[in-house]
Amino acid sequence: MKSEEKKERIEIREAFHLNWRAIGIWWKHYPLVFLSSAAFSLVNALTPYVGIWLSARIINELAGARDPNALLQLVIAALVSAALLSFLKAVTERWRNAQHAEKHVKVYKILTDKFLTMDFCLVDAPHTQDLYAQIRQNMQWSGWGIRRIPDNFEAVINALCQIAGAAALSVSLFTQMVPESAGTLVVFNHPSLVCVLILPLLAVTILSPILTTKADSYYASCADGAKKGNRTFGFYGFMGYDRRRALDIRMYCQNLLCQKYFLHSDNVFTTKGLLAKFARGKVGGLYALSSALSYVLTGLIYVYVCLKAYGGAFGVGSVTQYVGAITSLTGGMTKLLTTLGEMYTNTPFLRTAFEFLDIPNQMYQGSLTVEKRSDRNYEIEFRDVSFRYPNTGAWALRHVSARFRVGERLAIVGKNGSGKTTFIKLLCRLYDPSEGEILLNGIDIKKYNYQEYLSVFSVVFQDFQLLPFSLGQNTAAAAQYDAGRAETALQEAGLGKSSPLWKNGLETVLYKQFDDNGVEVSGGEAQKVAIARALYKDAPFIVLDEPTAALDPIAEAEIYEKFNEIVGDKTAIYISHRLSSCRFCDEIMVFDHGSVVQQGTHEALAADEAGIYHQLWNAQAQYYQ
Ligand code: ADP
Repeated sequence: MKSEEKKERIEIREAFHLNWRAIGIWWKHYPLVFLSSAAFSLVNALTPYVGIWLSARIINELAGARDPNALLQLVIAALVSAALLSFLKAVTERWRNAQHAEKHVKVYKILTDKFLTMDFCLVDAPHTQDLYAQIRQNMQWSGWGIRRIPDNFEAVINALCQIAGAAALSVSLFTQMVPESAGTLVVFNHPSLVCVLILPLLAVTILSPILTTKADSYYASCADGAKKGNRTFGFYGFMGYDRRRALDIRMYCQNLLCQKYFLHSDNVFTTKGLLAKFARGKVGGLYALSSALSYVLTGLIYVYVCLKAYGGAFGVGSVTQYVGAITSLTGGMTKLLTTLGEMYTNTPFLRTAFEFLDIPNQMYQGSLTVEKRSDRNYEIEFRDVSFRYPNTGAWALRHVSARFRVGERLAIVGKNGSGKTTFIKLLCRLYDPSEGEILLNGIDIKKYNYQEYLSVFSVVFQDFQLLPFSLGQNTAAAAQYDAGRAETALQEAGLGKSSPLWKNGLETVLYKQFDDNGVEVSGGEAQKVAIARALYKDAPFIVLDEPTAALDPIAEAEIYEKFNEIVGDKTAIYISHRLSSCRFCDEIMVFDHGSVVQQGTHEALAADEAGIYHQLWNAQAQYYQ
């Protein structure tokens, strides 16, 4: 797998721009993440300095005048400030932890909201799915991408506070002079010596984070390999326990097959993998060098501060203050530069995230409202509609014209792959026709507000999905529902009171994901709830797109005919590749290779011996005899 992320050069400007944009997104949705981080960082970074400053004063007093009153005041100040700061730290830390605990959920909310507002055709597009898979895996790999922003922000604030506090405490180290009586040590008063000392300090301070960033970049370059490793790991993390796979896994010992890949040296996470190799080699060396340089730096600081104190520039107590402050100053600068390096390394991952978040919607969004008609006199017309799925050459629908009015029973039949579901997708405006137009009451459906337009339809798709919430909520597809209507819809859909789904009435929770007392739902029961959901919506057009595909042909025919009785004055559109299910319909459209090849009643179509309907009918008749 090749990675564009690691190959393209990253410009500083781009790194800044993308990080800034990502901060903006977090700030817009979750400002408290930043505010709590800033409060905690401020208290956390400043706390040690108060202690350092006061203990230096106490030691100086002990080593100097030893005034009991002054000592008492300093000790009280040290105790009170320590207690207050500990309290503040605990409060801000809890606030910060509470805000950060949801970070994972928050970032998924940002990404999912994008999905939910995207044109369906874009959600369906392989490129969108691929981008999203990359984003998820970058996050799982090491929190790369948008997920990292609050941590980086906190580290920057922390470092800045640390630098400010340390700088305030260190200034006097350079302004306090060694007295003339100290002999050669007066050399420390010379400004050029200060420069000679500060330059290596700065060099080491900068070099250390550069080495860490370089080491991080090796890790980041493993992102693609890590994706593969995570997928392999997925077998143990997510598939091993999946009961839908349990039979296959046992029957064919598939765990052995997966294990082969899991332990393979291609897997970056194994001891023979790339990460371990980096840790033993370049990365380990860089981290060690970076850490060694930090220790050399601390040694240098000690020498300078101790010699100045020895020369008499300040008291012994101040040695702890200055060593603490300078170590903290360089530590803060290292932290700042390391975090900036990390933000730079994160740029390609942000690029991927923004490529996804910036996918523009392409479908025209109209604003017309759909006329609310008490007589439900709506009419849909497909006018010479042709359609090709994006990035495909073949026509999924070709020159389809159809018209259906309220109260009609329309069937769409045809072999698998003949275009039936595509027809429904276009009807629901999940895609726009490539040619031709679809009209509702004579107006192109593009001109309607989409939510308004959707309110005219209830569709039970082949792969409908229920949620692990209550029976009533599933029926109404809403948190609050009208119990009377929900019960009627479920009864009409044939969910008898003897079903376990009625265990706690409409409050029965379906499935066990959220509730141990939830009931498992069989395929047949799920269908009934899905049909009840369509009935509850009470839309003028109701579509059944083979939601019964798992049933045998006779059971499907029974459900369709029963449904025919329930739908009353609504327009019902039935899709099936089983002709018998739809023979009661007023009008049957036969699809073949994306075109409507025949249209008429069952009797007329079955009588046409040259037609495809006749052939299919005879081929399938064995099931019903
Ligand atoms: P049916 O519902 O009759 O089984 P479909 O409408 O699902 O048929 O499919 C019609 C044609 O469109 C088929 O050739 C199918 O492979 C193709 N097709 C369906 N969905 C997609 C898609 N998302 N992308 C590309 N081609 C698709």
